[in-house]
Amino acid sequence: MNKVDYKVLVGLEIHVQLCTRTKMFCGCALGFGEQPNSRVCPVCLGMPGVLPVMNKQAVEFSTLVGLALNCQIAEFTKWDRKSYYYPDLPKNYQISQYDLPLAANGYIEIPATNGDLKKIRIRRAHLEEDAGKNLHTAGNFSQVDLNRAGTPLLEIVTEPDMNSATEVRALAEELQRIVRYLGVSEADMQKGHMRFEPNVNLVINRGDGQFKTPIVEVKNLNSFRALENSIEYEIDRQLDQFLETGEVMEMGNKSTRGWDDAREMTVLQREKEEAHDYRYFPDPDLVPVRISEQWLSEIKSRLCELPLNKQIRYVKDYGLSDYDAGVLTADRQVANFFEASVAAGGEPKRLCNLLTQVGLKLANTRGCSIAELGLSADGVAELAKMTEAGEISASAANTILEEMAKTGKSPRALAEEMNLIQKSDAGELEKIVDEVLRDNQKAVDDFKAGGKKSGKARGFLLGQVMQKTKGRANPRVVAEILDKKLS
Ligand code: ZN
Ligand code: MN
Repeated sequence: MNKVDYKVLVGLEIHVQLCTRTKMFCGCALGFGEQPNSRVCPVCLGMPGVLPVMNKQAVEFSTLVGLALNCQIAEFTKWDRKSYYYPDLPKNYQISQYDLPLAANGYIEIPATNGDLKKIRIRRAHLEEDAGKNLHTAGNFSQVDLNRAGTPLLEIVTEPDMNSATEVRALAEELQRIVRYLGVSEADMQKGHMRFEPNVNLVINRGDGQFKTPIVEVKNLNSFRALENSIEYEIDRQLDQFLETGEVMEMGNKSTRGWDDAREMTVLQREKEEAHDYRYFPDPDLVPVRISEQWLSEIKSRLCELPLNKQIRYVKDYGLSDYDAGVLTADRQVANFFEASVAAGGEPKRLCNLLTQVGLKLANTRGCSIAELGLSADGVAELAKMTEAGEISASAANTILEEMAKTGKSPRALAEEMNLIQKSDAGELEKIVDEVLRDNQKAVDDFKAGGKKSGKARGFLLGQVMQKTKGRANPRVVAEILDKKLS
C-alpha cells in the first residue's frame, strides 16, 4: 500500500446557553429541572396572535462575547424565522439570525500543542432561541416539555482551522472559561449549557494525488470527552473508509452522524445532507436591532482581561508554572482574589501555593468559591509575608490558613495562639546549636572530614536542633549559625 499522509480539518459549531433571568422573547424565567411545562406562557408556547419582545440582556451578553472573540459587531441586525416542523417547536419556526448575524469575522486564541498560541477564526456568532425537549419515557407515548423553549442561545461558528481533537477540546475549554469570565453563561456541561457540533474531514496526500474525504457533522455533543473522542473516532473511520472505497468529497455527500457514548463510536444519521429549505425570512413581529456607538461602548466597558491572557501574564510576571497559572485563572473569582493578595504585598509564588494547596481544597469541601471562605486578601497577604520572613514555616502557614477560614482571626493572632511562631532569636538558637555540637562529636568529625559523609552530618545536626526546639526554630537562621560554627 502507498504511504498515506493526512491532515485533519475541523470546524466547530457551539451553542451556548446564556444566563439571562428570562427567556429570549417572553418573560418566563429560565429554569432547569422544574416540573415539565411549568415555565411557559402563550409566547413560548407559540399561541396564535402573541407578540414576542426581545430580551435586551441577551443581546448585550452576546455582543460582549462577540467583542471578546474579536468580532465585528453589526450596527444593524434583525431576526429571521427558520421554518421547520418538529413537535418540540410549536410555532413551526425558530427565531434566529440568518444573513445579518450579531457578530462576525473574529478569532479566538487557544494554547497550541507546541506551547505557542494558535488563532482560530470565528466565522459568525448569532442569537437564537432554543426548542423544547421531547421525552420518550412514557411507554408508547412521547411527551414534550416546553420549559426550555425560548431559552436564549448564542450560536458560534468557527472556520475549519483546527487540526486535531486536542485543539478542538482546547477551544471548547477556552470558550467555557471566557463565557464564565464574562458572566454570560454558567457553561455547565451537565445542564447542557454548551453543545458542540464538529465538522470533520481529512485531506489525504498519497503518491497518486491529494484527496478530501466527505465532511461529517457530529451532532449534539454535550461533554468535552465526547467531543474529543468522537473526532478521534471520525479521523480513523474516515481514513479507513477512504482506503477501502476511495470516496472523496463532492457536492451533496456531506453526512450527519451521532455519538454513541456507550459504544464509543459515531453512527450514521442522515446519508445525504439535502439542501434544506428553511424558508428564512425576517420575522415581521420583531423590530430590527440597531446597536448605537454609545450602547456598544457601554457594553465594551464590561470586558475584562481574558483568562488565557491572564494565565500567560502570571507565568511571565510572577514566575508561576503554566499549570499553576491555569489553576488560578480557571475561575475569575479565584484570579481576582489572587491578584488582590498580590496587590496587598504577598509574594506571588507563596500566595499561589497557599491558595492552590489549601484555599481551593477548602472551597471545594465547602462547595463554595474561594471568595466566600471568609478570607481577606490582606489577611492572606500578611500570612505570606510572615512565611517569607521566616516567622512561620510553610507547613505552619497552611495550618494557619485553614484556621483563618474557620475563625476569621488574623494570621498573627493565630500563629501566636497556636504557638507556631518560629524562633529566630540568634542568641537563643546559638546556645542550642552549641549544645548539639557538644553532644554529637562524631557528626562534627564526619562533617569536618569532608566528602560524602559531610552533607549527611550537617543535615543530622540541623535535624537535632530542630528536634530540640520542637520544630519551632527558623531553619534558615539555624543553618546560618551552624555553618558559621562549623567552618
Ligand atoms: Zn414564555
Ligand atoms: Mn443553531
